[in-house]
Amino acid sequence: MNDATPIPAAGCGSAPVLKERGQHSVFCGLTGIIWLHRKMQDAFFLVVGSRTCAHLLQSAAGVMIFAEPRFGTAILEETDLAGLADAQEELEREVDRLLARRPDIRQLFLVGSCPSEVIKLDLHRAAEKLSARHAPHVRVLNYSGSGIETTFTQGEDACLAAMVPVLPETATDELLVVGALPDVVEDQALELLREIGIARVRCLPAHRAAETPGVGPNTRFVLAQPFLGDTHGALERRGARHIPAPFPFGAEGTTAWLKAVAATYGIAAEKVDQVTAAPRARAEKAIAAQAAELVGKTVFFLPDSQLEVPLARFLTRECGMRAVEVGSPYLHRAILDPDLALLPAGPTLSEGQDVERQLDRVRAARPDLTVCGLGLANPLEAEGLTTKWAIELVFTPVHFYEQAGDLAGLFSRPLRRRAILNGEAAG
Ligand code: SF4
Repeated sequence: MNDATPIPAAGCGSAPVLKERGQHSVFCGLTGIIWLHRKMQDAFFLVVGSRTCAHLLQSAAGVMIFAEPRFGTAILEETDLAGLADAQEELEREVDRLLARRPDIRQLFLVGSCPSEVIKLDLHRAAEKLSARHAPHVRVLNYSGSGIETTFTQGEDACLAAMVPVLPETATDELLVVGALPDVVEDQALELLREIGIARVRCLPAHRAAETPGVGPNTRFVLAQPFLGDTHGALERRGARHIPAPFPFGAEGTTAWLKAVAATYGIAAEKVDQVTAAPRARAEKAIAAQAAELVGKTVFFLPDSQLEVPLARFLTRECGMRAVEVGSPYLHRAILDPDLALLPAGPTLSEGQDVERQLDRVRAARPDLTVCGLGLANPLEAEGLTTKWAIELVFTPVHFYEQAGDLAGLFSRPLRRRAILNGEAAG
């Protein structure tokens, strides 16, 4: 990381980590299809799963049945699950029919689910066969979105990691920004990078198959999302070099992210300060407007989205909150060390999930705000605790300067609502 980012002497970089292994309460990786299909405009996501999987997608995406969405479910019937039918052949026939009907599809993802994994359907072999049959017009890949993984953001990680081995080889010196960002946010990031003097920038995932970036030993990559552990590993195996950086949440996080990238290219921190002065000031003002509600309050992160560490850093350092516990499904050191170093010492750090024990600690601490999965929020609210749904942080544009105020607002709003409710109750 760049010298210009002050690192507190007592950060959480070497703090002990409580390891938890127990019951989970999270959404499955199919959820990622909702934002990935919007990002990748000529891709289709075919879930090979049950009616439950189809319902999850249908209700989460809120798509009209008569629309032609770019995701669907090939439903495994009881005869498939009992091994009485050749699901593999049926799946290939379904894909052939789909691709004949939808020539706009250039990338097809076969997405594994709990049922397809239980019956050990070989989606990798199916994807290879189908890719050979439909090349060069369509590339078929597979990944798992099943609930057997431990958290919902692993769906995007698995999808991007599946793409990396087939990215074209390149010797070009390029920066790769990795992680699906809403288009407007991606445009802001590219503009900031261009203004500090980095013009050769590509994004993974790209909007279209034709814009797919190459990768090679001259590729440097920076992550835009902290949950991309497998993608990080896959890119390094292709020879690309990772730029460790705090994540671009808040004014400080965004500046530190840009400075880490700039330093890799030999660009001075002062140049970043100069280019970002105006948006940084806007972000600081927008955060301050929300932080009035957050200063001095306590926050408890239950492990869910893998965004917990960078968000705890943002809430403590930029909004004046105090973190009681920061739980994350995985603490991937190569990815999170810059944020851990900035996180003020004090909170319990935990990795993994054991929902009952974690809920006991929430009840004992009674934090002002608990960031948790959807399934835990209502019971905790019923016990008088104020909650924030972690999944909203993935569905809402929250990265970089222009969204910093909205990000702080996501945490201040539930506190404001609780204060109003309490006021009304008292009145
Ligand atoms: S993949 Fe598993 S957890 Fe996800 S909807 Fe399907 S059955 Fe449920």
